[in-house]
Formats: sequence, structure tokens, C-alpha cells
Amino acid sequence: MKYVDEYRDRAQAEGCARAIAAITTRPWSIMEVCGGQTHSIVRYGIDELLPEKLTLLHGPGCPVCVTPLELIDKALRIAARPEVIFCSFGDMLRVPGSGGDLFSVKAQGGDVRIVYSPLDALKLARENPQRQVVFFAVGFETTAPANAMAVFQAHAQKIANFSVLVSHVLVPPAIEALLSAPDNRTQAFLAAGHVCTVMGFEEYLPLAKKYRVPIVVTGFEPLDILQGILMCVRQLEEGRAEVENQYTRSVKREGNRPAQELMAKVFRVVARKWRGVGEIPRSGFGLRDEFAAHDAEARFGLVDYHVDEDSECISGQVLRGVRKPRECPAFGGRCTPERPLGATMVSSEGACAAYYQYRRHEQTSITAGKRS
Ligand code: SF4
Repeated sequence: MKYVDEYRDRAQAEGCARAIAAITTRPWSIMEVCGGQTHSIVRYGIDELLPEKLTLLHGPGCPVCVTPLELIDKALRIAARPEVIFCSFGDMLRVPGSGGDLFSVKAQGGDVRIVYSPLDALKLARENPQRQVVFFAVGFETTAPANAMAVFQAHAQKIANFSVLVSHVLVPPAIEALLSAPDNRTQAFLAAGHVCTVMGFEEYLPLAKKYRVPIVVTGFEPLDILQGILMCVRQLEEGRAEVENQYTRSVKREGNRPAQELMAKVFRVVARKWRGVGEIPRSGFGLRDEFAAHDAEARFGLVDYHVDEDSECISGQVLRGVRKPRECPAFGGRCTPERPLGATMVSSEGACAAYYQYRRHEQTSITAGKRS
């Protein structure tokens, strides 16, 4: 496949793995921030190519996984209302809330629809002026520009029956929270390339300096990830802590300025709860006051609705790189993709789902090695 095959070349990947092994003299722990990178690592067995001294930790970069239980519950409550058309990307429909998921609301008669863009939801609002159309705006900085555009257009065109349930989270505050935690094990990060395509990487410079941690902006194909690991290990071995860009074909230092300007018009930075992690200050987006009329939480009286997280699911520890999915007692037994207990088993980017999909739970203790 043109433009992709060259990043999946086996000989080059093995050469890169040999280069990593040749310079690794000590144990190092590197976290890939993004769930898409986790899936590539597990799918292509990248961790199994690496020297024993290197440990890959799976990070919190799966937006579906970190959406807190109470926001899922709010979505369920809104979606169950007879006047509402509730629109979402497909991966949110099976995420369990306290009492079911969006599929179960749909099965009970709720008008829940899968859309491929927030602008599709806006179109539905235009076509159905007698209904309330709500879009579940979940994601990192990558999806925020399109969601900002939908709100901006709704506001400009006075489409009053359109609102968004906002669950936008930001990567740099999450990295800082991980680095500040007493149980932090991460010594270097592979930053998520697509987030940096939008945001650039200037906001990582103070983090690298303050915590003396290498951060390498990295893509998603196997060779991208191996090169990102090589760049991290090189820095660690040389005692450097810098921000470097492996994903130069997509990421510029300053990112996409027009997208950032649009986001800044519509959103303000707020504290956000992360599922299994808790509240992180200044770690997400909320709507600015000018756009408050399009805030679904306020429209449906759910601003002060709070619930506690499920105690059986240890996805918070998985998302912080403290535990691996197989270390969860429920993994592969009480918790499977068909009957998930937590969002990391549901999402296509969730670490638990990746381990299950690529049969990591069936490996013997010898083949599994220390990293799985
Ligand atoms: S295996 Fe299931 S219960 Fe365990 S951490 Fe993953 S999602 Fe949660």
C-alpha cells in the first residue's frame, strides 16, 4: 500500500531494533502516550523486538477510555429523553456506564445515532428543528477543531436545538500528572503524533526541562514507533532530556495555527476528570460563556451530577502505566470485549482490548516475557 508499506518494512524494523539493542546499556521505561501507538505495538509485536532492558508502558491517550463514568451516565440520561437525537462516534456506544451503555438505551427506544463528524449532527439539527440534537464531543486535541467548528457554526447560524456534551481532554497536563505521581515509572515519552499535528510541540518543552524527561513526537506505524524508541533511548543513554520530532512528515513545531485559533474561540481550558485517574487541573476543554447555550450538560440540568468509579476495574492503573492489562484479575474472564467492565476493554485504542485482540492473554509465561 503506497505511503504505508515503507513504514512497515520488516528488514528496516529489525535493523532499527538492532540499533536500539546496540545502544541500550541500562533498564529504561518508555511510555507511548497514545492508544493508537499501543495497538501498533501489540499488533506488530514491537515490544517483543526490543531488548529485555527496555519496558514499554501504555499511557492514557485513549479518549474513550479516559471519559469518566459520570459523563457516560450523563450521555445515557440525555439519550434516553424522547425529544433527543443523541449523536456519537461509534466507539462510545459500548462504553459501560453505571446502568448500561448507549446501545442499551437505543435498544430501549432511545434515538441514538452513529455519525462520522460533528457536522453530520449539526445537519441533523437543521433538518429536525422540533428535536434536540446532542453530539457527544469526546477526544483529545485532535478532534477538538472539528467539534469547535460545529459549535461555532451552530452559534453563527442560530441553530438553537444543537448542543454538545463536551469531554475534551488535553495531553500535556496528563503527562505532567503522570510525572508528578509518586508511583511514576516513566523515564521518557513517545508523544502522540496526531495531537502534535494540531498543537505542535512547543508546550512539551517546559515539561522536558522541568522533569528532565525526553519526549519524542512519534507517529503510529511500526517504523515510526521503533525510530521514536531509538531516539528516546539515545537521549536517555546520553543523559539528555529534549523534545525531538520523529513525525516530521506531519508535525510542525507550531502545529496548525488556524485550528488552534478556532479552538481558542470556542473552548476554554478547565479542570477535567479522567476515568480511573481523577481530576487533573487545566486538563480539558469546556465551552466558553459565549457558546454556553450549546452546552448539553446545562441544557439538561446535569452539571452537578456526580458518580463514583467502579472499584473492580483497574483501568486507571493501566492508563497510568502502573499495571499491565493482564495484571487485572478480571482480564479475559469477567472482562472481555463482549462483556467489558471498563472502557479500556471497549475502545479500539484501549490497552486491554489490544491485549485481548492480539491474544496476549493466551501467551505462555515464557513467550510473554516481562513486557506483556
Ligand atoms: S481488563 Fe477490564 S476490568 Fe480490568 S482494567 Fe481492563 S477494562 Fe478494567
